Amino acid sequence: MSKKTQRSLTLHEHEDGIWVLTLNCPDAVNLLSIKVVEELEQHLNTLANNSACRGLVFISGKENNFIAGADVNDITSIPTVDEVVECCQRFEGVLCKFSQFKFPTVAAIHGACFGGGLELTLCCTYRIASNASETKLALPEIKLGLIPGAGGTQRLPRLIGLASALDMILTGREYPARKALRVGLIDAAVPANLLLAQAQRFIHKRPKLKRKASILTNNIAARKIIANKAREQVTKTTKGFYPAAYKALEAVFEGLEMSLAKGIELEQKLFSQLVHTRECKSLVHLFHATTAAKKNNYDKERVAKFDDRRVELIGVVGAGFMGSGIATLAADRGVCVYVSDPNADAVGRLLHHADRYYIKKVARKRLKSFQHAQRLAMISPATEALAGFAAVDITIEAVHEDLGLKQQILQDFEAIAADDAIFASNTSALPIAAIAEQAKHPERVIGMHFFSPVEKMPLLEIVVTKATSPWAIARAVEFGRLLRKQIIIVKDSPGFYTTRVLACLMAEAVRALSEGCPIAEIDQALVEFGFPVGPITLIDEVGIDVGMHVLATMGKRLGLDNVPDLQQLVAQGYLGRKNGKGFYQYKDGKKLAPNDSISNLLGAQPSTSYTRDKIVDRCLLAFVNEAVKCLDEGVVSCAGDADIGAVSGLGFPPFWGGPMRYIEHVGKKEVRASLLALQDMHGKRFAPASGL
Ligand code: NAD
Repeated sequence: MSKKTQRSLTLHEHEDGIWVLTLNCPDAVNLLSIKVVEELEQHLNTLANNSACRGLVFISGKENNFIAGADVNDITSIPTVDEVVECCQRFEGVLCKFSQFKFPTVAAIHGACFGGGLELTLCCTYRIASNASETKLALPEIKLGLIPGAGGTQRLPRLIGLASALDMILTGREYPARKALRVGLIDAAVPANLLLAQAQRFIHKRPKLKRKASILTNNIAARKIIANKAREQVTKTTKGFYPAAYKALEAVFEGLEMSLAKGIELEQKLFSQLVHTRECKSLVHLFHATTAAKKNNYDKERVAKFDDRRVELIGVVGAGFMGSGIATLAADRGVCVYVSDPNADAVGRLLHHADRYYIKKVARKRLKSFQHAQRLAMISPATEALAGFAAVDITIEAVHEDLGLKQQILQDFEAIAADDAIFASNTSALPIAAIAEQAKHPERVIGMHFFSPVEKMPLLEIVVTKATSPWAIARAVEFGRLLRKQIIIVKDSPGFYTTRVLACLMAEAVRALSEGCPIAEIDQALVEFGFPVGPITLIDEVGIDVGMHVLATMGKRLGLDNVPDLQQLVAQGYLGRKNGKGFYQYKDGKKLAPNDSISNLLGAQPSTSYTRDKIVDRCLLAFVNEAVKCLDEGVVSCAGDADIGAVSGLGFPPFWGGPMRYIEHVGKKEVRASLLALQDMHGKRFAPASGL
């Protein structure tokens, strides 16, 4: 039977009068596609006509997935707002059938229960879940620029109260069974193999449960106060860039002033207004790009050549800023780590960093206290060179940007390394091929470019040279997955993808500064566009000396040779946040006012001929144009990877979807025209990339 004609739902009588409806989509995960909803309607109609039915259990036939949500493609491909409303109404009509039965219905949840899947369960009389770690309940629509569109904003607050409902709706946070039970989202949590038996018990006993919707939820005055607070909070966290968060508040708070049916109508209206917004399109695009990247990186051919052994032991050379993050995260994911750094203080700081990180996790109940000690014990630091490294699966080099030093460390490692061990450099900008120039086994050399702070930043850029072997790539990918990183694989070249595009933006910001734009204006312009921090602040964060080095490494090749030299600043002790003296002033680690005198050192004359729009145009289009060049040259293999790299590694505003999606939103012609105008004004470096 072809997948198209295969049915997803089966209905059978489990015991006298108790029916079980099992969802098992022929594809990998259970999704509520239009076809599945049609099938669901047929089965519910059958049950409605069955006078002998005493109860219904809705369950999944998948091993680890209940329902992953509605099919995003089904929704985003609906052309008009009215048709989106119609689609929501149809789904709501089907869901209502659950609550119209005279007999109880139980959703028996094991595995991911997301979005439309969770909204379906809200229409059942009872929800019970397995207490397995795979079981997670969430309304993640907000992450796609949407709000729940199948009653979630109405039924959830009425069931579990405003505070928990807002948390779920506004953050998309996943609730494990224990937490779901605590807030009243589910009525019982049991081992997975007892789910069906427990569901039957609920049907037999029909317990009357006290729901948790609190006094606050039912009190008009309290609701007003919470609404104002929630709005303030949303503005603070989204900076007004994500309309879905405001629509969610409108749906929840206005919905509580009306009947459930009217509230659901309001929700459908608001949901439909979001589907075609730029923000939703961008976030859905990033979702698809991330899924595609996961598939591509796990290319079957490459993995087939890999021995499939889990990475168990790594070596980290350099216990500095990045080495500390890499070692801490690896140990947190169960990988043993040898660390080598001649500087005993650096080694001590690494252990302190790891200790504090795990302590925080214990405080947040993400780790048990014994695991804190266990994790620390997995890190073995030494001031001796490469002690223990003969046994590692991967060595990650994270010493400062010095080509000779990196080459030397690679040679020393090759002298003791196991036959199948790989060497990865965390360099930000040096070509990996240059590091591997004198290597005996260049096929085992690769770039693993982490971002700081390593534990938090989602991206890992894996840099592949012409010589890197497929199995070495597979091992690096495997390790990146173990660290739960979003991975893009890029071609080796100076600055790879991320550092290269970022360098173009930073260089443009420094040029603007030297032409007399005030520091604060440059930063504010890019923050208003949606970047988390401005480019000048960023240079201070990474270090002016580091920024200078990066710009020098990228050099002439990227037209960065005529950037005002930062050498002068470095020579006068301006290093950035790390020494409290940079483009900004610092006190006790806190950023204060801009250090405007620094502009004189760059030879700047105060100017009034700038506007924030012009600053954004220059900096942003330099970034976007370079991203297109990277795609043209095959540095990134597809537009999706370019977008993921920019958003997850560099803070490009997700609601624009990345530089490639930005071009689609604005229009290729328009971007090209703006670049040509900039070229007239500022020179050849703005010549549009051939891909434009
Ligand atoms: P860092 O200066 O904080 O740390 C470098 C460490 O290397 C120091 O502890 C030093 O003692 C140690 N070291 C020096 N010589 C050594 C040797 N022979 N053997 C072992 N250790 C030695 O540097 P960092 O900021 O952690 O950067 C490390 C690398 O990561 C650089 O290549 C940098 O470009 C890259 N990187 C940095 C960032 C960032 O934000 N800092 C981000 C991505 C990549």
